[in-house]
Amino acid sequence: EKKVLASSAKDLTPSYDWFQTDSLITVVIYTKQKDMNEELVIVDCQDKRLRGEIIMDDYSYLVEVDLDHAVSEEVAVNIAEKIGKVEIILKKKDNIHWKMLGQPWGCHNTFVKRTDRELFYRKCKLVSKTEVTHDTKLFCFMLPKGTHLRIPTGQHVYLKQIITGTEAVKPYTPVLPFLPLDFQETSHHDGVHIYLMIKIYSCGLFTQALDHLQIGDYVSVSNPEGNFKKSQVQASEDLILLAGGTGFTPMVKLLNFALTEVSCLRTAKLIFFNKTEDDILWRNELEQLALKDERFEVQFILSQPTKDWVGKQGKISSSLLSEFVKRSRKDSKVLICICGPTPFTEQGVQYLKNLGYSQEEIHAFTA
Ligand code: FAD
Ligand code: NAD
Repeated sequence: EKKVLASSAKDLTPSYDWFQTDSLITVVIYTKQKDMNEELVIVDCQDKRLRGEIIMDDYSYLVEVDLDHAVSEEVAVNIAEKIGKVEIILKKKDNIHWKMLGQPWGCHNTFVKRTDRELFYRKCKLVSKTEVTHDTKLFCFMLPKGTHLRIPTGQHVYLKQIITGTEAVKPYTPVLPFLPLDFQETSHHDGVHIYLMIKIYSCGLFTQALDHLQIGDYVSVSNPEGNFKKSQVQASEDLILLAGGTGFTPMVKLLNFALTEVSCLRTAKLIFFNKTEDDILWRNELEQLALKDERFEVQFILSQPTKDWVGKQGKISSSLLSEFVKRSRKDSKVLICICGPTPFTEQGVQYLKNLGYSQEEIHAFTA
C-alpha cells in the first residue's frame, strides 16, 4: 500500500520546462493543480537569479536557477488558472540563443512542506509614510520590478532590518491604502505596493528603526505566512471582528473581502478595543463605511477613556461580548475573528467558547 501512495504522490509533484524565442525566455511550471491563482505564485528575478515558488496547500514547489545570461528587470507572470499552468516570461537583454536555462541552486525543483521552506526576502523601497494617529503610521513599500507577490487576506509578512549590526525580524499584516467605500470587484492592489499600518513604540527596537527610515531606504520583506483561509469567511452570513489596537490590521482586508465578495454575507460587525479615542485607527473611515453600507456596523470600546467619552468602555469581558457578539438570525453561519495583544486574544477566545461558539466559528490571529 505504501508503494502505491508514494507513486501517486509523485504524480502530483509539479514539474517545469523552458523555451525561448529570439527575445524571450519562458519558464513553464505545470502545477498539476486545477485552482491556481495569483496569490499562489511568487516570483523573484534579480541579478540573473530566478526564483519561482508555487504554493499548493501546505506544500511548496520551487524553481531556483542562476540564469545563463542577463535578462531585463521586468518579469511577466501568466497563470492558466483552470489547467494549473504558470508561465514566467523573462526578456533577454541580448538576443542570443541560450544553450541552457542556467545553473540550479538552492532548493531547485523541490516539492516540500511549506513549513520546511526557508523564508525568502526581497528588498523593498519605502515610498511614503503617512500619519494615521499620534503613534501609528501607514508605510508604503514598493516591490522590485522583478517580483510578483500578492499577500493573501489574513496573512502577514516579516520585515527584516539590520539594527546596530544585528539582524532583526518582526511580523506585520498588510492593509489597503484606505478603506474602500464603494465595493466593486476591482481590486485595490496594484501588485506593486505593500501598505503596512505600524504603531511606533517609544521603546520599541524594531519600530524605532522603522520610524527612522528615510523615503527611498530599503527594508527586506518576506513571503506571506499565516493560517487564515478565505474559505472560512466565504460561507459566512455574520462576520464579527474583535480587534485590540493594531490587531485591527488583519481586519482591513478581511472586511473588504467579505463586503465585496461574500454574497451570502448579511452582517459585518467590528468591535474595536482601544485605550483612548486618539488611539482609534481609521475611525472616520470606519464611521463612513458604516453609513454607506448597511451590512456594516462598528462599535468602539475604550479601556482608558477621558471623562467626556459617552461610548462604551472597558476591556474585553464576557458581559461586553454577550452584548455585542450575536447572530443576526438564530441559525445563521457566523465567523468571529479576533486579533490584538496576546492576553486580549486568549481571553476573548475563552469568553467566546463560554458563550457557546465552537472552535470552527472562531479564528484567532496569532504569531
Ligand atoms: P519591542 O521592542 O518588542 O517592544 C514594543 C513595546 O512593547 C515596547 O514599548 C516594550 O516596552 C513593550 N513590550 C514588549 N514586550 C512586551 C510584553 N510582552 N508585554 C508588554 N509590553 C511589552 N504591529 C503593527 O503595528 N502592525 C501590524 O500590522 C502588526 N502585525 C503583526 C502580525 C503578527 C502575526 C504579529 C505576531 C505581530 C504583529 N504586530 C504588528 C506587532 C509587531 O510584530 C511588533 O511586535 C511590534 O511592532 C513591536 O515591535 P518593536 O520591536 O518595536 O517593539
Ligand atoms: P494597546 O496596548 O493599545 O491595547 C489595545 C486594547 O487591547 C486595549 O485598549 C485593551 O482593550 C486591549 N488590551 C490590551 N492589553 C490587554 C490585556 N492585558 N488584557 C485584555 N485586554 C487588553 O494595543 P497595541 O499596542 O496596539 O498592540 C496591539 C497588539 O496586537 C500587539 O501585541 C501586536 O503584536 C498584536 N497584533 C497581532 C497580530 C497578529 O497576531 N496577527 C496582528 C497585529 C497586531
